[in-house]
Amino acid sequence: MRRPIVVGNWKMYTRAADATILATTLRDNLARLPEAEIVLCPPAVWISEVLAVVGRGRIELGAQNMYFEVEGAFTGEISPLMIRDVAKYVIIGHSERREHFGETDEIVNEKTIAALEAGLVPIVCVGERKKKNNPAEPVAELKAALEEIPKKRLTDIVVAYEPVWAIGTGDNAAPEYVARVINQLREVGLAETPVLYGGSVNSKNIAAYAARPEIDGVLVGGASIRSSEFVKICETWARVKHFRSQA
Ligand code: PEP
Repeated sequence: MRRPIVVGNWKMYTRAADATILATTLRDNLARLPEAEIVLCPPAVWISEVLAVVGRGRIELGAQNMYFEVEGAFTGEISPLMIRDVAKYVIIGHSERREHFGETDEIVNEKTIAALEAGLVPIVCVGERKKKNNPAEPVAELKAALEEIPKKRLTDIVVAYEPVWAIGTGDNAAPEYVARVINQLREVGLAETPVLYGGSVNSKNIAAYAARPEIDGVLVGGASIRSSEFVKICETWARVKHFRSQA
């Protein structure tokens, strides 16, 4: 179901104490924000710590990655069922995993299927590497990620359009361009699927994305580990989307 969602990807940042402080500040500041679903994706080792702070309810949790087998002799990997015990979401196919850990379209597809089977909500990331006005690359990645997944399950996933050139660079994609790409992604069968934008989102540019009806939410990296930034992003998203739904 399409709904406003703001996801914070903490990447490989925060030590234990930082994670607890960040989670506490976010819990205290985001409690009264019913208009948007907020998802925190801390490093896997801190998910339980963060869960102990935020509890179940207002703030949802997600993992940044998982393996596609449910259990076995796979040293160092994390199973979808393990994540299901502590979180609702899992990021799949983030460009940093594709680039640094060799995740192919086939692996992304296997992980997406495994996440759904485990009852997790996969946040499937797609995006072109180079800055060019051509949505063909993210559309192809999306089709590959969704291979063999029945159409009726597409409401159980979230898609994040993240142009790689915009991630962590400060060069955020123009909202009009994002809207155009998202319209193309929707043609792959995503009419009822939440589609997010990610790439150098911050408290200054967030309102322009929120104003676009094509964009259901945002996936925030760097700005999500600065509590005041992330709170402002969530507040703006909830306010603008709520206003639009009332209009
Ligand atoms: C991300 O990690 O998915 C991301 C979009 O990072 P940033 O917001 O830092 O560009």
